[in-house]
Amino acid sequence: MTVVTRFAPSPTGLLHVGNLRTALFNWLFARKAGGRFVLRLDDTDAERSRPEFADAIRRDLEWMGLDWDQELRQSERMDLYRARAEALRGQGRLYPCWETPDELERKRRLRRMQGRPPIYDRAALALDEDERARLGAQRPPHWRFLLEHRREGWDDLFLGPREVDAASMSDPVLIREDGQFLYTLCSVADDADLGVTHVLRGADHVSNTAVQMQIFRALGAEAPVFGHHALLTGPGGAPLSKRLGGLSLADLRAQGVEPMALASILARLGGAAAPEPRLSLRELIAEFDPAAFGAAPAAFDPADARAMTARILRLTPYEAAAPALAARNADLGPRFWETVRENVASWDEAAAWARILREGARPDVAPEDRAFVAEALALLPPRPWDETAWKRWTDAVKAASGRKGRALFMPLRKALTGKGSGPDMSRLMPLMQGPAPRPEDVSAD
Ligand code: GLU
Repeated sequence: MTVVTRFAPSPTGLLHVGNLRTALFNWLFARKAGGRFVLRLDDTDAERSRPEFADAIRRDLEWMGLDWDQELRQSERMDLYRARAEALRGQGRLYPCWETPDELERKRRLRRMQGRPPIYDRAALALDEDERARLGAQRPPHWRFLLEHRREGWDDLFLGPREVDAASMSDPVLIREDGQFLYTLCSVADDADLGVTHVLRGADHVSNTAVQMQIFRALGAEAPVFGHHALLTGPGGAPLSKRLGGLSLADLRAQGVEPMALASILARLGGAAAPEPRLSLRELIAEFDPAAFGAAPAAFDPADARAMTARILRLTPYEAAAPALAARNADLGPRFWETVRENVASWDEAAAWARILREGARPDVAPEDRAFVAEALALLPPRPWDETAWKRWTDAVKAASGRKGRALFMPLRKALTGKGSGPDMSRLMPLMQGPAPRPEDVSAD
């Protein structure tokens, strides 16, 4: 059996990290099994779906390196949904209803007052042919799926054995009054049509699963294996949503977060083992195990993604770093990268170091250190500088000034780099190509 999974976003907004985690899980699962991964755009809502969101979704998946073997759009598959709806109608599992939203709300309120669960009372099921014809002449119906009132159980990939009582649910609407097919039906029709074997999705879909298992059965199709992962929350525990600023992938990218840093976190967050930096998706494929995840929601903090980016960069060999450096006009060779990678949290920070080394820095000198730094600069060893240059210089300055420790080193570092922290100066000095500051650049005017 070929494993087939799918990621099924609606292109009605940007992906956030929670959606991307679902995509990653499905991709990891398929790749681990040597199977296929399908991108399905759930765009039956013509009003809210936008091609630019679909483009952004594709870009985000590509950014993380999640490739797909097939892509389909639900808006192009109406014939399939029509045929499946017809099949359900033929079995009496899809019935027309004419209640207005107001009427339904009144019924729900009444049932709550009576202490009964606010589910649909199936009044429309009792309509006879004449009543249906009369109502149908006034306006088109919406269509509900007739649930079997029984418990649906499955062995969940993430959660283990699960059960949902379909008797506690309203018969779901599968077709709206305006004829729009709804997700619950389309998803089953597509999963059956494509031979999807495993559906990994958020825990917010657990009750959908009970309904969809019944639709699979009614259509004579085998239901896939389901897995529901706990949802991610933002750093404060609030649910993620398409409108949550700061946690869109565009925002994370703008903060310099690297795709493998995010993937390393998302593949483990909420699981048994703490996230570790991984340089390739291949490593994550080998490690992926849905059963290792807990049922409690896990919080995603963008600060962790930035810290993970720093850890990833530290581990990245020059050959892998070179293209990213070159793209920023910052490829100063392997010695440069091996020197700065310990001290940067993004490629842009590495590029800033390249600029400092190539062009020289504006010295940062505290007013009280001006005379000291001017004297020290007069003692700079002549170029070329090798790895002993820093020691030779600081020894000479120490002998001349009597300063030592931080009071000696810090002003000199800031004079040459313009920064109070950074890579080892002994390794930086040989990489400096730009002009060194002259004593007159820093002395008081
Ligand atoms: N379009 C649905 C969603 O984004 C897909 C859910 C599913 O995976 O079945 O929630």
